[in-house]
Amino acid sequence: MKTILLNPGPVTLSRRVREAMSRPDLCHREPEFGALQDGLRRKLLDVYALDPADWAAVLLTGSGTAAVEAMLTSLVPADGRLLIVENGVYGERMTHIARSYGIAHERVTAPWSDAIDLSAVERALGDGDFTHVAVVHHETTTGRLNDIAALSKLAAAHGARLLLDSVSGFGAETLDFDGWHLDGCAAAANKCLHGVPGSAFVLVRRAAPAAAPSRTVYLDLHAYLAQQDRRATPFTQSVQTFYALDEALDEFFEEGGRRGRQALFRHRMTRIREALLALGVEPLLPDAESSCVLQSFRLPPGHDYEAVHDRLKQDGFIVYAGQGGLSGRVFRISAMGDITEEDLARLLDAFSTLFRTVGRRD
Ligand SMILES: *Cc1c(COP(=O)(O)O)cnc(C)c1O
Repeated sequence: MKTILLNPGPVTLSRRVREAMSRPDLCHREPEFGALQDGLRRKLLDVYALDPADWAAVLLTGSGTAAVEAMLTSLVPADGRLLIVENGVYGERMTHIARSYGIAHERVTAPWSDAIDLSAVERALGDGDFTHVAVVHHETTTGRLNDIAALSKLAAAHGARLLLDSVSGFGAETLDFDGWHLDGCAAAANKCLHGVPGSAFVLVRRAAPAAAPSRTVYLDLHAYLAQQDRRATPFTQSVQTFYALDEALDEFFEEGGRRGRQALFRHRMTRIREALLALGVEPLLPDAESSCVLQSFRLPPGHDYEAVHDRLKQDGFIVYAGQGGLSGRVFRISAMGDITEEDLARLLDAFSTLFRTVGRRD
């Protein structure tokens, strides 16, 4: 039986994306690689119709965290100050990165199940001289879609630019690069774009100032940008995952691009949410505050996570645990990947069997 991944990346691959990895062997110093890289960089800008005069896609080999780490280390200048807005694991990871590199920063925290704390952000921005605000777009810890429009207005009023971790939003959620005053947006191949884990990228505003001297050798975005603009690369790239991303992007545009993907995920998520609700399994967050990509559901009494996971795995579906304080309380389901309507119907059947006694009061 084929296994369907409902964890937040890597995703179930389509056959054509998997097969793209067996395109011909290619040296990263050959012109064919330059052409592949150029094509990818153009297609990534096309996802949100970004103007290549103002924006550049910088391709990296690594998982999404590499892109976030490259963005924070390369785009906060040496004398810059960063305000990190947290409400989950990935916000906390940005603080961990800032601390590791000695980037001057402060944090505004909210409980994981809550929205970002905009009034605390406003107070912090008034007190400190921040050049940048970093935040997670879709906080995958809970499935919450953070209110970046509201945050960006506060940041702009204080002259700070936004650095966005949209690793689990890019390609499906709405993103307003110019309206939100972004300097950078970090994302990865293996989430909403349905590529293979191993390549990640940062969309960089070309006018964004560089951190000089650079804090890192391997993750220096400006070094990559300069070389990639010349169709070159500073280091060996993961050629096969680039092939896969190239194919995944072709498939993405053929299927209606960003809006098509958002509609597809919404459709799947609505069916999952409604089926679970009908069985008495409650979502953690209101639908209006949730992403289209992933949602969290409360484990019903009498169902521990391991049992839910193992039972669904037997049926061919991989769901995901809650993290930290949410572990043992929720399970998470993502709508990403090459999933058919038939797979979805089988998943809903598996839920019915697993949770058939939840709503019953006896
Ligand atoms: C997946 C993800 C990342 C990257 O995590 P990796 O373990 O490096 O793949 C970063 N931020 C968010 C919000 C994510 O969902």
